[in-house]
Formats: sequence, C-alpha cells, structure tokens
Amino acid sequence: MRIQHKYRSTLAINQFQKILFLTLLLLPIVQANSLAVDLQEKSGEITCKDEFNSGKVGVNNALNKLVQVASLVGEVETIFQTMNHNLAPQLAAYFNPSAWPKINDRAILAKVPVFMYHDILPEKEVFFDVTVKELEQHFQLIKEQGLTPISYDQLVTHLRTGLPLPEKPIVLTFDDGYGGHYEYVYPLLKKYGYPAVFSVYTSNMGKNTGRTHVSWEQLKEMAADPLVTIASHSVTHPKDLRLLSDEQLKMEIEQSKQILEAQLGIAIRYFTYPEGKYDQRVAKAVEKAGYLSALTMSDTDERFAGESESMLAIARFGQSRLAQGESSPISQAWGGAKLPNFLSGGFDFSAEVQVNKTTVDETDITLIYGGKPVTIHAKSRYQVPEILAGTEAVAAVDGGFFSLKYLDSNVMIGPVLSQVNNKFIPGYRGEMSKLTGRPLVLIGAQSAKFIGFDPLKHNTLEGVEAAMSNVTDAFVAAAWLVKDSKPQSAETFGSLFDYDAVRHRAFWGINQAGQPTVGVANDPIDSVSLGKVLVKAGFRDAVMLDSGASTSLAYKGESLVGYTPRPVPHVVALVPPSSTLKSTNCAIAPEVK
Ligand SMILES: [Zn+2]
Repeated sequence: MRIQHKYRSTLAINQFQKILFLTLLLLPIVQANSLAVDLQEKSGEITCKDEFNSGKVGVNNALNKLVQVASLVGEVETIFQTMNHNLAPQLAAYFNPSAWPKINDRAILAKVPVFMYHDILPEKEVFFDVTVKELEQHFQLIKEQGLTPISYDQLVTHLRTGLPLPEKPIVLTFDDGYGGHYEYVYPLLKKYGYPAVFSVYTSNMGKNTGRTHVSWEQLKEMAADPLVTIASHSVTHPKDLRLLSDEQLKMEIEQSKQILEAQLGIAIRYFTYPEGKYDQRVAKAVEKAGYLSALTMSDTDERFAGESESMLAIARFGQSRLAQGESSPISQAWGGAKLPNFLSGGFDFSAEVQVNKTTVDETDITLIYGGKPVTIHAKSRYQVPEILAGTEAVAAVDGGFFSLKYLDSNVMIGPVLSQVNNKFIPGYRGEMSKLTGRPLVLIGAQSAKFIGFDPLKHNTLEGVEAAMSNVTDAFVAAAWLVKDSKPQSAETFGSLFDYDAVRHRAFWGINQAGQPTVGVANDPIDSVSLGKVLVKAGFRDAVMLDSGASTSLAYKGESLVGYTPRPVPHVVALVPPSSTLKSTNCAIAPEVK
C-alpha cells in the first residue's frame, strides 16, 4: 500500500533531499549567529544598537522559518538530526526533542486548549449537540479574541520540542464522524481557514443510525484538504477500551488504522480513545500500532495540552467551556516562550508585559515578563501597589534588602541607584563585607547584568559605572538562583540567612528570550529547589530578592499574593517598552531623605 503524505510538496522529496533542504534552510542561522558574535566582540559591549539589531533579526527570521518548517515536515527527528550537524552544540542541545512520549519541559509552560465537539446540527437533539449557529459563534469568538487555530501536527511538534506556537493557539477536534461534520463543519473551516481534527470509527461509515455519518467519499474529500487531520477512533467505538481482551483491543486499534489508510491513502498517525477512556495497557497497544499521539478526555480533569500525561494522552476541554467568558480556557491560551536570543548577552526589552501563572515540580509560581526593567527606591516603606500608583509601571516585585530598624525607613542594605530619582546612595561601610560576592544587579536601557559585588569597587557611582556604562539602576540582591541557565547548589548560598528554609520567595531575572521577568513562588520553597524550578520555567539568570514576609508581587495595581506582605521601600518594576519613564517623570518621584 502506498501511503501519501498530506502535504504534497513534502511527499515529493525523499530523505536525502529533505536533509539537503533543511541544511540550506538552517545555514542562515549559523551565519547570522557568527555575524552577531563578531559584532559584539568588536564593540566590546552591546552599545552598537543598529548593527546588533540587524544581526538579531537575521537569526530570528531563520528561526521563525524553522518553526514553520518543523510543523510542516512533521518528522521531528529528521529535523533535529540535521540541526545537530549544522548548529553550534548549545543550540542543538536546546532544540533536542524530549524522548517520546514525554512532553518537552518548555511545552509544559505553554497553554494550548484542545476543544472537543461531537455532532453539529441545525437543531439541538441532545445536550451535547451544537447547532450550526452556535459553532459559527464560536468561530467568530476565536477570531475576535485573536486566537489562532493550529493543526494537530503543529501541536505535536510543539509538545515534543517546546518550539513556540502562535501567540494564542487553539486546537479544534470533532469526534465520531457525523454527517454534520461534512455538511456544516467542513464548509465553515474553509470559510474561516481553521484547521481541525476529525476522529472517525470505521464501522459506521456512511450509515444512518438515527444520525447520519460521513461517507468514504466525503471523508476522502476532507482528508485531502491540508486543513483536515483524520484520526482513528477505533472500529466499533466500544464504550471502554479498558474492558476489552488483548485481542479485541488490538483489532479496534490496528484495524481502524489499516482501514483508514487503505481507504484514504494517507498515513493515520493519531488515535482518539472512545469516551476518553484508556489505561497503560490501552496506551501501550496504541503505541505498538504505530500511532505518534492520542487524544483523551475527562469531564472531571480538563487540562491544557502541555499538562497532559504524555503524547499518548493529550487532554481536551469540552466545547461548552469555549464561550465561558473569563473562565474559558481560551482567556489563558498562550503559545509558549519565544525562542531564546542566541546572541550571547542578547536582551529583548521590547515585548508586551504578560502574566503567566504556572506549576513546575508541584510548585505554583507567578511570572510576569516583558517590558523594560526599572527599580524604584521610594521615600518610605509601602505596599508594592502603592509604589506603582501614578507611575507607568505595569508590574513589580519587592526588591533588595532594607534596614528593619525604623518602620518608615527607606535605608537599603548595600548601595542603591534608582532611575526614578537618579541618585546613588552608598551602603554603610560596616555591613559591606557581608555582601561580598552577592549579585550586584546592574540595569541599563537595553541590557542588565548580574556580577559579584565587590565592596572596594562597587560602593561609588563611578564604581558601578565602570562595571556598566550607562547604568541607570543598581542594587545588591540576596543570591543567584539561576546563573547561565543552571540552578545553583547549596554551597553557593554560603552564609545567606535561611536560604534552606521553606518560605515564600521573590525573584527577578532574564528569561531565555532575553526578557526581564519578575516573580514569586506562591508555595513556600527553599532556595536550591527554587533555582531548579526557575531553570525549567525558562530563566537564563535569576536572583533572589528580599523574601519571606516581604515577598510581594503586583500587576496593574493589584497584589498577586494572597496575604498582606511587609511594606517595602524598593521594587523591581516592569514598564511598557514604549514608556518614557526616566529619571523625573515618576509620579511619586521620591526624594530620598
Ligand atoms: Zn467518540
């Protein structure tokens, strides 16, 4: 039997041509990458904005192209073998797919809702029917909300590799092969240009069982359209595959694949469990039959695709959740972190500020990333939202350590420079030696730096300017949690008070895309474990801020922690990329005592 690939252009090339094609495609990445490194070495520091940006655009264009091709080729291994030969080892390591059927760590953080529909009819007959009018309302809503429906191939590539999807992705699936799928759904998909998955069981093809089912002719027409993915949904649609004998199970899973492939002349790579029911034995049978992924469904445990157990149990939401306003999963849809900026020391202070609440290793964390980082040194101690009031800052986390001696004191431990008042305040000499080697945070208009604090060098404005020309903000943080994309060991925390205690913790740093990111651990956690969590959450560098009772995070005027933290005099804030917040235009423009 000859199996045709759905994408005819891909079908036309053999393995050798494919590798050649990918090599040519990836070449610009390598070239752009070395060009950018040259530029940086020449300038010593990233000050040459135009040249720097042109190098960056070259890399990003090539990488964006890679994302598109990865989803078209659909053969993750081929792409990555090719990349290993052509790219610097660190890039290849970054892109290496997770061992199937594991879901890639970066995809766990993204939020892709997969929606499940059944029959679509002009009039409702049972509660789970959706009328044609309702379906078109859903399609309209998807458009109005700026969501991008993606194909199942795209989702699979993303889940295996963590390569980012469009900003707000969504997957549409229709189960059971009803006649309405051809009559009403398919025309609407073409009208809107939305891809979708149709899961069909083969025994009812073309039959009228009180409801019509698609015929082979109709299914063939749909399967030939790049918008459509056909998944196997067994032969007879048993209510619970777990209850079948090994032999029956094999028949349902393998024969349905063979029948569909023979009838449609395409490879059937995906399976959908009838009623969503499966266990390890069922999943094993699906794997053995050669499927690359399977869809499930649970009324009591709806999850985003990245939170699924494995590639063999991709979770879905019932279609009724789609139009639920604020509580709809579509309000959280997110295609995952942008690709890293591969230029060493690359920064992106131009992204929109966004909130991402997520769970890594069973720890709930809230991250806010994007915008430009600034610090605000207030004239007294306040709640973080009070410090943001009247400024252009969208979000902030509490900042460096401060003296607890007086309730209204704004005295910091260690030197501090804040662009809101443009004043450098040296630290008290007596406490300087305790801060030796802790991260000195240096922020400029287009970059940030974390270097070991040296009291002899860094307690004057000239000293911090020597460490970073055009520095606008500086302070000493508690400790590194992530350094050069690696979590930090217990030894690195030295004598830091309570580093191993389980407490609420505040942090800020730079993510793999070069964007500033502030955040808190909503679950109490020790510093070493937090570093491991933050590496998985995509940090390149992260430092701990004043934690415990001071742990505080605010977004658009609201506190995001579920308690009243200790008031603080210092924050790390994110302002919109277009903001002009400089030394004087902060509404609270605090005069330091
Ligand atoms: Zn079904």
